[in-house]
Amino acid sequence: MKLDGIHHITAITEDAQRNVDFYAGVLGLRLVKKTVNQDNPTVYHLFFADEGGDPGSDLTFFEYPGAAPGRAGAGMVHRIVWRVASTDSLDFWSGRLGAKGVESRREGESLRFSDPEGLDHELAVVSVEDAPLIAEHPEIPAELALQGFHAARAYGTAPEASSGLLEALEFERVDGGAWEARGERRGGLYIYDSPPAERGLQGAGSVHHIAWASSPEEHMQWREKAIEGGAQPTPEIDRFYFKSIYFREPSGVLFEIATNGPGFTVDEPLGHLGEKLSLPPDFEHLRSEVEPNLRPVHNPRSG
Ligand code: ZN
Repeated sequence: MKLDGIHHITAITEDAQRNVDFYAGVLGLRLVKKTVNQDNPTVYHLFFADEGGDPGSDLTFFEYPGAAPGRAGAGMVHRIVWRVASTDSLDFWSGRLGAKGVESRREGESLRFSDPEGLDHELAVVSVEDAPLIAEHPEIPAELALQGFHAARAYGTAPEASSGLLEALEFERVDGGAWEARGERRGGLYIYDSPPAERGLQGAGSVHHIAWASSPEEHMQWREKAIEGGAQPTPEIDRFYFKSIYFREPSGVLFEIATNGPGFTVDEPLGHLGEKLSLPPDFEHLRSEVEPNLRPVHNPRSG
């Protein structure tokens, strides 16, 4: 029993429109769900992913209008690493990002840049057996597109403190000090770096939590394993698109374990994901209250 790598990563944006323009318009991800934060239904929760809305490619944002800029520090994920197929892809992205006014830095087989709010990304040429998770974008050839998550890098002051829990969750140590969660479906890495001296601040452009992927059948067993590893997980929470448990790992990063399904087609057809404000049944009664307060976002994909 192994986790299938990264399910999703959730961060904070101050401006949903600028966020959609960057992730859907520039990076070419698909906006697969436009809904509300179930823990605070007055704000947006936007989900970007591949064409199928698959776990493993799913970057999500809570919109907090007016949020102060965040800053990654100890106990926070500070960089998201995406797979790409080739160095040609890195060339393409350095050109495309530059044309859109986004600075990037090439380091060997990777390209680093930040989103408009300072969230750090890296595109890495990696060869793995996992299916590439690609979204369609008219300006981005499929062979050069982002292929889903490869890794998350977190700041940890004493990352050895997390070893017991990561082992209980069946992560394995791999080369370069990384931890790998690799299941039958796919795999992903979790890597610690030394934190900067300044304390982290949760705010715009910072990561809120990282979710690891479980089959629906094994979800409660992972909860038991987290407890055995010393964590204090929440009860299983039904997020409608998947089920979740949450706990903080010893280095301070908020972990979630989320099920691979039922997924984003549970309330919208695949061809029309993310076009309307989706409210899970338990939130539908709030529509007349929340919809007028959400600043409308225009998806560049809809022309
Ligand atoms: Zn989550």
